[in-house]
Amino acid sequence: MVRLVGTLAAILLALACSSVTEPSAMGQQPTVPGRSAARVLMLTTTAGFRHDSIPTARQVIASLAGAGAFSVTATEDLSAVNADTLRNYDVVMFALTSGELPFSPAQKAALVDFVSGGHGFIGVHSATDTLYEWADYGRLVGAYFKEHPWTQQGTVVVENSSHPASGGVADRLSITEEFYTFQENPRSRVDVLLHLDPTSVGTAGDYPLAWAHSFGAGRAYYNALGHFPETWRDARFQRMLAGAIAWTSGK
Ligand SMILES: [Zn+2]
Repeated sequence: MVRLVGTLAAILLALACSSVTEPSAMGQQPTVPGRSAARVLMLTTTAGFRHDSIPTARQVIASLAGAGAFSVTATEDLSAVNADTLRNYDVVMFALTSGELPFSPAQKAALVDFVSGGHGFIGVHSATDTLYEWADYGRLVGAYFKEHPWTQQGTVVVENSSHPASGGVADRLSITEEFYTFQENPRSRVDVLLHLDPTSVGTAGDYPLAWAHSFGAGRAYYNALGHFPETWRDARFQRMLAGAIAWTSGK
């Protein structure tokens, strides 16, 4: 019996040692041994306005990935969006993208098939200022940017604290941001998670700022915050994005 326990201990030790994962040549973070971590493809390509917060956004997502719940490959190479490459991912994130990114029809079909086939999409901030001429993308991200009337401190209200992408933060968040409005209010088509308290910027009306919805068999999430590097460094924003990765990936 003693010998058996000793053998078992040796096997377990060997398994533990062999499951330590090295970062791959693709620049991915190591994953938690024995757990299926979400694999995120993060795109920060711009064909229009380019945010100064892009380097911070990439650093922060890589840092969050270091905690082990997901791995990330960040790129500006649009050719990464194709049916073959997407087989290696659970979630595609458009972070601070802008303009009419020159995807081919095959690439567009690959992204739509990827999400509608049961995977995840995340858009952040100017992801809604992207690909206005591609209607399927508009349905995927949920709305298109209209204007940003308020760049100032404002109050963000959490509408749905039971959702993984908005739970665990305060019910109301005071934050300095460039607050977006959209060409159409997406409320009837999505589950709104955050909205701007209009009185905090001296106005009235309904201004959703983050939402989640299903897209075929897949899941899509959008968060309008992220203009400033400080927003990406904000633990509350990071918690939302980590929750969004978990929710959209189904992991
Ligand atoms: Zn902005």
